[in-house]
Amino acid sequence: MRKIFIYTLLLAAALVLFAGCSNEKTTSPENKSDSSNTPAASSNSSDDSNDVAKKDEAAQAITDPHNVAVMVNKQFSLPENYEPTDLVYPNVRFTFKEKIEKRKMRKEAAEALEKMFAGAEKDGVYLAGVSAYRSHKTQTAVFNRYVKKDGEEKAKTYSAIPGHSEHETGLAIDVSGSDGRCAAEDCFAGTKEAEWLAKHAPEYGFIIRYPEGKESITGYKYEPWHIRYVGTDIAKNIAERNITLEEYFNAVPVSK
Ligand SMILES: [Zn+2]
Repeated sequence: MRKIFIYTLLLAAALVLFAGCSNEKTTSPENKSDSSNTPAASSNSSDDSNDVAKKDEAAQAITDPHNVAVMVNKQFSLPENYEPTDLVYPNVRFTFKEKIEKRKMRKEAAEALEKMFAGAEKDGVYLAGVSAYRSHKTQTAVFNRYVKKDGEEKAKTYSAIPGHSEHETGLAIDVSGSDGRCAAEDCFAGTKEAEWLAKHAPEYGFIIRYPEGKESITGYKYEPWHIRYVGTDIAKNIAERNITLEEYFNAVPVSK
């Protein structure tokens, strides 16, 4: 049932991606499985065949959980039983001491995080990790707990359905200041740590995944603490254009 649902979504996404390209020759998708950071087609490009190739790559990036640009949101979920294979403990400060699951990230993201925290310290900003990786099992337990407490409809407004949380990718992390104040809370907005992140995170390959004023596109309210690794090329592009990952791929039927 769930699989059918996912395939339907993927098909819908593919249709959106290739809409407007129907006069093009059939393109053969390359079987690329590594994490390519090739930017997607920009809307003002006049080279149609180039656009198709780029959109093709974008389509693969969106659905490939191994790709650091994978799209996970309320429409797109990770494949069932997906578990990153390269999780490590980033060597940075966290708001807790234990070496537990939520301290882990995928290797590439962890290394970028280490560089970013070091860069912040040079600017006198001391960051701390709050929560990074969350396994499918943990997300299921968390979500079920909320459903028990508030009912499914309400739970869905503030917690991701298992398979739909970016934390399951190992590429996202909630960050606070080193004192842990306002960790993953609205009052983190406007702090010097939040401002530093908004300005500098893209230099290290991270984006503010749920920006202010983009709720109708991302499906989430402003979360200045939730950053997502996508690689520096895509992160800088997204930041410069003041867009979201959804808009970058131009692939999700967003409800504006
Ligand atoms: Zn988060």
